Amino acid sequence: MKNNLKYLENQVEELKKDGVYRILPINYGPCANVIDLNHKEVVNLSSNNYLGLAGNKRVKKAAINAVKKFGAGTGSVRTIVGNMSILEELEDLLAEFKREEAVTCFQSGLNCNIGAIQAIVNKGDLIISDELNHASIIDGVRLSRADKAVYKHSDMEDLERVLKEKRKDYNTCLIITDGVFSMDGDLAKLPEIVELAKKYDCLTYVDDAHGSGVLGESGRGTVDHFKLHGQVDFIIGTLSKAIGVIGGYVASKKIVKEWLLHRARPLLFSTALPPAAIGATIESVKMLMESEEYTDKLWDNAKYFKERMKNLGFDIGHSETPITPVMVGNEAKTMEFSKALLANGVFVSGIVFPTVPKGTGRLRCMISAMHTKDDLDFAIKVFEKVGKELKII
Ligand SMILES: *Cc1c(COP(=O)(O)O)cnc(C)c1O
Repeated sequence: MKNNLKYLENQVEELKKDGVYRILPINYGPCANVIDLNHKEVVNLSSNNYLGLAGNKRVKKAAINAVKKFGAGTGSVRTIVGNMSILEELEDLLAEFKREEAVTCFQSGLNCNIGAIQAIVNKGDLIISDELNHASIIDGVRLSRADKAVYKHSDMEDLERVLKEKRKDYNTCLIITDGVFSMDGDLAKLPEIVELAKKYDCLTYVDDAHGSGVLGESGRGTVDHFKLHGQVDFIIGTLSKAIGVIGGYVASKKIVKEWLLHRARPLLFSTALPPAAIGATIESVKMLMESEEYTDKLWDNAKYFKERMKNLGFDIGHSETPITPVMVGNEAKTMEFSKALLANGVFVSGIVFPTVPKGTGRLRCMISAMHTKDDLDFAIKVFEKVGKELKII
């Protein structure tokens, strides 16, 4: 018989030859500060569980209670019978938390970008996008069939150059940026972007996946951090990172929600979030609204870790958030560093091309409120030992 899948075999062979074929590590327990990874106990510096809420007792209990009341699944898309009261409750709570008029929930952050961008712009419109925007934004832009222009990362002069050149040729123009850039931990220059959007009559779209639960008062996000409420048209957040569960949302004016409920394809053609996830998320958001304990601990840990890593002589880039890249450069050396850390009990994933530009390989340390000072001290000691062995410091 003819092997029709031969082309995939060839492609996988290529991956192996290039040294980029990977076997997924297996976590045998919950996402915590210390995890049982491939049956080895290691300090976990690789999760987006910024506040430790994924394993929080109150959050887990809320998930169980939601299952008891609403069951395991919602039974259909939201436009038929999948729109449970608990989901409406979550959206109202999130709108209050984000200090915006309305919130529309999606099944994930990726799904939200793919659904929202394609619903709000069309063929004949223009999207202007930061060159380091997340992959899910890039996919959403493609699906929208709008024209796309890219500006150099956080370069406001370049953004204005694009606006001067192209704005006049289009009706609707949407400027899209990450709120926090996930590989470097730097913030978008939102005040300047909002100014330029006003000057050139554009809409603004901020994907705040890594800012939600991290920046602003009690983790209200980048827009709150810059005090720009009411001035960004579409604020995207995830419920899967700091909030600790799963899902994505758009915070916006009410009219945006009305439109998304009619045109966002993930809401029309994919089943709504399950009750367990919704119940857990409601509890996480309530906990953030009650106290700044979790965000304070996160920032305290991040500062502690960064200061010590910098003093050891590591190049930790220009992050302004708990994301702490340890710059290495060479791709093979980055992967070697990551492997050696793991062998010594610390899991930090190596990030290399094509996720980041060639020659800018790094280890991305994700600091969380769930880490104890002992966890961080241990990780720092291992970094020092391996860093010296590999002549990185
Ligand atoms: C992680 C991330 C997403 C995807 O969020 P999920 O909820 O995991 O699907 C989208 N945008 C950005 C900027 C992200 O960092």
